Amino acid sequence: MAIPSVCDVLPPSTLTVEQAQERILTAIQPITQTETVLLEHALGRVLAQTITAPFNVPPHRNSAMDGYALHSSSLTAGLNQLTVIGRSLAGHPFQGDVGQGECVRITTGAVVPEGADTILIQEEVKRFEDRIEYFGRIKPNKHIRHPGEDLAQGSEVLQQGRVLNAADMGLIASLGLGHITVWRKPKVAIISTGDELRPIGSPLGEGQIHDSNRYTLRALLQRLGVEVIDFGIVADEPSTLEQAFTTAAQQADVLITTGGVSVGEADYITQLLGQLGRINFWKIAMKPGKPLAFGQVGTCSFFGLPGNPVSTMATFLIFVRPALLKLGHYPVRSVIEYRAKCLTSLKKASGRQDYQRGVCHQDEQGQWWVKSTGVQESHVLRSMSRANCFMVLAKDWGDVAEGTEIPIIPFEGLF
Ligand code: AMP
Ligand code: MG
Repeated sequence: MAIPSVCDVLPPSTLTVEQAQERILTAIQPITQTETVLLEHALGRVLAQTITAPFNVPPHRNSAMDGYALHSSSLTAGLNQLTVIGRSLAGHPFQGDVGQGECVRITTGAVVPEGADTILIQEEVKRFEDRIEYFGRIKPNKHIRHPGEDLAQGSEVLQQGRVLNAADMGLIASLGLGHITVWRKPKVAIISTGDELRPIGSPLGEGQIHDSNRYTLRALLQRLGVEVIDFGIVADEPSTLEQAFTTAAQQADVLITTGGVSVGEADYITQLLGQLGRINFWKIAMKPGKPLAFGQVGTCSFFGLPGNPVSTMATFLIFVRPALLKLGHYPVRSVIEYRAKCLTSLKKASGRQDYQRGVCHQDEQGQWWVKSTGVQESHVLRSMSRANCFMVLAKDWGDVAEGTEIPIIPFEGLF
């Protein structure tokens, strides 16, 4: 198939990292479909409904302590005696009223009987057969939990857009809700492209390597809780690629490919994107990962990431991750940046924003320090595995001297 070269499709303008991020977030719109899920499957999902309390939680007046329920006017200061007329246990309320000079044995969570307005805790009384003795003044309203103290009937409990955590699970359960409506998960298709790639389990012939990017991507996507559709490895062959792209774009909200995105002889990705859909941009002043094709194929957003494993990972974290967060209705916060002092000097060519791999730590005074993992080439995935942060070196900087303060992005929580 004859396809035009990238240079025929787009002028070779190079975007800054920020410009590219902005373009991506402008193009991506949050999912509009919802689904109803069992509460036990809702952890980490985003609420598409606002939940209001259909009744009070707790639903009844109940005791916060083990002890005795009585009316505070029953007794005066000094040695007092009360007759125990029954028990109110959690789940087994006392049937009847508590009158003057009377009390009811009560346990934590049990309904406070009619006529009682306070609880004496059991450690403060002496128990005899059918009576108790108490020394001291009795105050009303002690150790009583009132209806709706946790959640009042009709009040807003959780708002639409809430990312559900473990506490929310219990809160929703306390309202008796077993199913809730959440935004459906983004569907993300992944394809590894390259004639040299072999799956795990296949022996390697001359010049071949195992496809590692799909495993990195799967893991990164798992972390984001999206649905992954794995299209495996596709050869550097325009018609096969076209078929795979078309099928994937019909099934997924986002298609991520790796490899074949630069301007080599077997790099067809950007051209195909231009042919099947629309290219938004394909070059960023960033290292690693200068070529990155972003656009649309039908309703599917397309990310053509570079094939070098470090570039794949860095471009995913900087560009794809925020896009998927927005798509799934998750808050798109900028990544946490700290300022750290360099323990070593760093090599850097001006013209691109570098995301070099570093190891950082914070000392007892709260100062962050960082040093390079050493080798920084984009095929050395070990540098990502050993690192715990990106060192972000601005586009116009040259070499960085030891002791310079630089921004770092810790990996914690990212993958
Ligand atoms: P490309 O972006 O296709 O020019 O590939 C750049 C480098 O990344 C080459 O050395 C490829 O062999 C390598 N590469 C591409 N795809 C993968 C992959 N899925 N797993 C591991 N390495 C890859
Ligand atoms: Mg290739």
